[in-house]
Amino acid sequence: MRAITVEKHGGPEVLVPADLPEPVPGPGRLLVRVAAAGVNYIDTYHRTGRYETHPPFTPGVEIAGEVEAVGEGVTAFRPGDVVATADAVGGYAEKALVDEGRAVPVPGNLDPERAASILLQGLTAHYLTHSTYAVQPGDTVLVHAAAGGMGLLLTQMVKLLGGRVIGTVSTPRKERLAREAGAEEVVGYEDFARRARDLTGGRGVPVVYDGVGAATFEGSLAALHPRGLLALYGAASGPVPPFDPIRLAGLGSLFLTRPSLAHYVATTEELRARAEDVFGWLAAGRLNVHVGGRYPLAEAGRAHEDLEGRRTTGKLLLIP
Ligand code: NDP
Repeated sequence: MRAITVEKHGGPEVLVPADLPEPVPGPGRLLVRVAAAGVNYIDTYHRTGRYETHPPFTPGVEIAGEVEAVGEGVTAFRPGDVVATADAVGGYAEKALVDEGRAVPVPGNLDPERAASILLQGLTAHYLTHSTYAVQPGDTVLVHAAAGGMGLLLTQMVKLLGGRVIGTVSTPRKERLAREAGAEEVVGYEDFARRARDLTGGRGVPVVYDGVGAATFEGSLAALHPRGLLALYGAASGPVPPFDPIRLAGLGSLFLTRPSLAHYVATTEELRARAEDVFGWLAAGRLNVHVGGRYPLAEAGRAHEDLEGRRTTGKLLLIP
């Protein structure tokens, strides 16, 4: 089968197409024919080795497609079922393996490509807005990179919960997309903390959803009201330097968390409950997904270049 391999850590150029043997599903695993694979920031961390990986390997954690074969002991799925996952092994490929407990059934009314375009970021936006900080009606919250894959979904979920969104973006086109997703106020990165205060009558916001990291961290803290929460869920601009917690007291007894999807979908029950919401809202038209780029599998490197180069909006997909 065709698949992308990484022979050594490095830039987007190390994502090389190759012919590999088809994987065989061991006990408790499914073999899935990939209809579409999601491109996520975590794939870039796996590619560079910033998160531990051991070359050679095939990256990609998010896929959807039809189950082709099941390993010993699998009871929840059978060949022909359509599933999605945010925990695939080797997702940038024509076929990939998934643990039975990490697979989510895709409802019959949902195209597998649409499922792959929303699962991982939809689950993340779900836990951030419902569990890390449960948005209350009337809350005005700050969402960074509001036209990105995460940003567009966070914005829509805050709106579903009755909140208001101040979004940051870097270009007029991204501003338009963020507004279409429901952001009431869209600002640039210069001085966003002051703008957030101005837009909340000088008080500040109760929560900042920050997946940008190094470039926004200080401003995000400054945008919060006393006892507000910084949900630092990513580092698209690079990791935040070491931080002395005593500063949280001086800034107003703030809370800082660095959440990870794995801990919010740790059990199969929690995973499937959140996925059911996300797929249900998508199918009902309460949530939209904006696919900003569809790339042939062999062009995975170009997808990473575009993502890291800040040129993309919404979700990126690889099509085998
Ligand atoms: P995005 O589509 O949001 O792309 C990243 C965006 O960040 C860019 O488009 C850009 O938007 C903004 N950005 C600001 N500064 C920079 C910079 N210096 N370099 C690159 N981008 C920059 O990506 P995703 O939606 O895939 O992911 C967003 C974040 O969410 C990532 O940090 C990712 O790791 C994190 N994440 C975390 C999860 C978790 O559970 N903790 C799960 C899933 C994702 P603009 O041009 O408007 O500034």
